[in-house]
Amino acid sequence: MKKNKKVNSGDAGKELQVQNCSICCHPIDPHYHPITGELFWIEGHNAQPVNDGRCCSICNDTIVLPERNNRLSTETKTGG
Ligand SMILES: [Zn+2]
Repeated sequence: MKKNKKVNSGDAGKELQVQNCSICCHPIDPHYHPITGELFWIEGHNAQPVNDGRCCSICNDTIVLPERNNRLSTETKTGG
């Protein structure tokens, strides 16, 4: 059974579209403001260079950032 998280926007009639992570295909976790509790970011992270889409925090931390560092260190290698 898959549980779907509901996003409460607060404003009636204002629908927020939760995107799916382009890497793990799970819904991207919405970010809430720590003080006001307001939803302020639902678009996740840039999944590049893994792919062209958006990704969730988990994939960003475990896949995208390591991959980025990997490429950076490969690019700056001069073979010396
Ligand atoms: Zn993900």
